Order: sequence, then C-alpha cells, then structure tokens
Amino acid sequence: MPSNDGVLAVARSFRVLVIGGSYGGLAAALNLSDLARGRVCRFESNPDAKPPQYRIPLQITVVDERDGYFHLIGAPKSLACEKYASDTWTRFKDIPALRSPDFNFIQGSVSKVDCGSKIAHILDTETQENRTEKYDYLIAGSGLRRVFPVAPQSFRRADFLEEAKKHVENVRNATEGIVVVGGGAVGIEMAAELKILYPEQKITLIHSRSRLLSSEDLPDDFAERALEILREENVEVILGQRVVDTTAVDSGKERIWRLTLADGQQLTTGLVLSAISRSVPTSTYLSPEALNEEGLIKIRPSLQFSGDVPNAEHHFAIGDLAAWSGIKRCGGAMHMGQYAAQNIHQHMLAECTGEKPEFKNLNAFPAMIGLALGKKCAVYSPDEGTRASEDLMDVMFGKDMGSSICWNYMRLGHPPPA
Ligand SMILES: Cc1cc2nc3c(=O)[nH]c(=O)nc-3n(C[C@H](O)[C@H](O)[C@H](O)COP(=O)(O)OP(=O)(O)OC[C@H]3O[C@@H](n4cnc5c(N)ncnc54)[C@H](O)[C@@H]3O)c2cc1C
Repeated sequence: MPSNDGVLAVARSFRVLVIGGSYGGLAAALNLSDLARGRVCRFESNPDAKPPQYRIPLQITVVDERDGYFHLIGAPKSLACEKYASDTWTRFKDIPALRSPDFNFIQGSVSKVDCGSKIAHILDTETQENRTEKYDYLIAGSGLRRVFPVAPQSFRRADFLEEAKKHVENVRNATEGIVVVGGGAVGIEMAAELKILYPEQKITLIHSRSRLLSSEDLPDDFAERALEILREENVEVILGQRVVDTTAVDSGKERIWRLTLADGQQLTTGLVLSAISRSVPTSTYLSPEALNEEGLIKIRPSLQFSGDVPNAEHHFAIGDLAAWSGIKRCGGAMHMGQYAAQNIHQHMLAECTGEKPEFKNLNAFPAMIGLALGKKCAVYSPDEGTRASEDLMDVMFGKDMGSSICWNYMRLGHPPPA
C-alpha cells in the first residue's frame, strides 16, 4: 500500500547479514538501506536514476570482529601516530549514518555459514557465547587476515589506541634506526610514512627482489618512480637482498637487532618491521565448494556466489575476499558493495513482485594503484600510465591518507533521513 511519500510497500520483510563492516560491507549495507527506503542509492552515479517504487522492510545485521569501522588504508600512519590513530577508528555505534532501526550490529567472529539452511554461526565477543543468525541474503565482506604491523590486531577502539601508543614508543626508542622488510605496496608506504613522521630517524627498506612491487602486475617504470621518490625522501632502499638472519643483540641499555643479508652484509637496527607476510582470506567459515584454490570466494559478475553451494543466488561476496581481477583496493570493495546492494534489491523485488531482476554486472578491474609516498603520491592506471606528484597526493589521499575521502564518499557522517 502507498505510504505518505507515495512509495508502495511490499508485504514481506527480509533479513540481510553482512560479514565485515569495512569499506565493502558498509557500502553494501548503506546502499541497500537507501534502496529499501525507496531512495536512489548513495553511490549511484547516473543523475537520471529513478528512485525505487517500493519500500522493502529490511533488517541489516553487520557482524564484525572489530567494534567499529577502521580506515585500513591509513594503517601505516595510524600505527605510528597516536593523534591520527584516534581519527581512523570509529565505533559502529558512533557512526551517524548507521543510526537507524534498519541496522543492527554484532561484535563477533563468524565461524561457520550454512548456505543450505541460511544460518551463520557467530562467536559473540561480548558474551563469549556462540549464537546463530538466520538470514535471507548474505554478503561476505570480511576481507583478508593481516598480521601486525600491516594492520592492527586489536578489536576494540580503546585497545587499538593502546596498540598504536606502544608502537609509537617503539618507533621513537629505536635509536639505531628502523628496518622495514618487504618492498610491496604496504612496506613501501610504511617506510615512506615513518620517514615523514620521524624525519630524524634512519629508515631502511629491504626487498629481496631487484625491483620494488615485484609481485604486483605493474609496469617497471612505476616501480622505478616509487624507488626514486623513496630515495628523494631519504629512505635507504636495499634491493635484491633477502634477510637471512635476525638476531637480538644486548647492547646494555636497549635492544638492538643485527640483520644478516644473503650476500653476508650485516646491519644493526633498533626495530624490524615485517611487511612480507601473505594476507590470508577469512573465508574459513564457508565450505570449500564456495572457494577457489587461494581461498577467495568464487563469484559471478553479479557478485553472487558461483561455486557449487545451495542457495548461491542469495549469497554475495565483495571486496578483497571476492575472487576478481585487478589489485585489491578499497575503491573496488566499495564499488562491489554498491553492486551487491543493487542486485540484492533487485532480487528482493523480483521475489515480491514477480518482475524480472535487472542485475548490475561487474566489469574486469584493470591493474591500478595509488601509493602514498610521504609528500608525493605515485599513481598507475592503464589509461594514464605512471604519474607522481605532490598534487596527486592531495587528489588521491587528501590531508589524511584518504580517511575523509572514504568517510565522505560513504556519507558516514550523515544520519539517515526519517
Ligand atoms: C596497509 C594497507 C594500505 C592500503 N592502502 C590502500 C590504498 O592506498 N588504496 C586502496 O585502494 N587500497 C589500499 N589498501 C587495500 C584496501 O585496504 C583493501 O582493499 C580494503 O580494505 C578491502 O576492503 P574490504 O571491505 O573488502 O575488507 P577489509 O577492509 O579487510 O575489512 C574486513 C572486515 O571484516 C572483519 N572480519 C574479518 N573476519 C571476520 C569474521 N570471521 N567475522 C566477522 N568479521 C570479520 C574485519 O574485522 C574487517 O573489519 C591497503 C591495505 C593495507 C593493508
């Protein structure tokens, strides 16, 4: 029947369970809530898009191991700067956009999903008890498990601030300098950020291959530009050397590490930060049929599961956890969140009205990257090739490593209209 604004309401309601309340998960939850309330969704880029004709009663439950949204892109800075750390973790209950009866939060870890009965098993952090959540649609957006110092290991904001404080102390107390091991995107950003925050500190980046970013599908000139900028910013870079031994040396007043490189060269340092561990998919809650050989969720271009699991059409995967082309990026995760929301909305409408769903299909993602390298940003895209400048830093990351850009794009600061 029509509501005050003339929008029709469907007769049934739906439960949507979103695993992971980060870029992908929040983008999906918020865009879906917009559509269900009869509005054009917040990420819609078509200015002529029409709002949906129907309202759909929804309950969206977001489950996350963390108690809030953490701006992961800023991790190299937030772990090394307490003031910034505080700005990059917002508890879900403090996010204005989520203050709506549509949303419900559980802090906990999903341990198993039964796609056949559409039930998720969750270890609730607060009660330390197992609970189950029934759903009509599931969105898996729980990303990759990353070790410290690539990502913080805390699950509560208060603990995260302590974790950052401890790391800052270690960085400050490293009188013999800091070595970052691993010249992938994270190691490079970590080294550059430490040099900007602590210009007096000697920062060395060691990479086992002769080229930075050796495991990324990126052209040589981009890797060379990144190397040039690091050196301009006085980060020492050692290429083509594997660290074969790390030994603690007792210097009397502080702990020092002696590193031995493959060619026998030795160096001492006050702190070793490893950026080489492979991040592992968090998909262990799903049956192997849903996953590819890397543990990523197999999807169709509609983002629905494509593996041989029951009710695949009611299960969606987004963000880093989805097996899709391109370098894993937060922009990609948010885009996938939008499409998952639009496709779930179409699927719900089809169930209620019998209309044929019109799905958004994801295109292949090209290899693209933006690296924050202290004052400058280096960007690669197939259309424009390699570019790097201070202006680009402003465009790509703003003044806060992209935190405001992501926050504003998701409109997290806007309470939902009544
Ligand atoms: C240091 C660093 C710098 C980066 N820089 C950039 C950059 O400059 N630009 C860019 O585009 N991308 C960057 N990335 C990549 C980007 O951060 C990821 O692509 C993005 O975070 C993916 O978002 P997501 O929503 O898929 O997953 P994630 O952001 O990984 O979030 C997953 C969420 O799921 C939760 N979770 C995990 N397991 C469970 C479970 N079992 N139950 C419940 N909850 C669970 C986690 O707590 C987390 O909140 C960077 C990544 C890192 C680590």
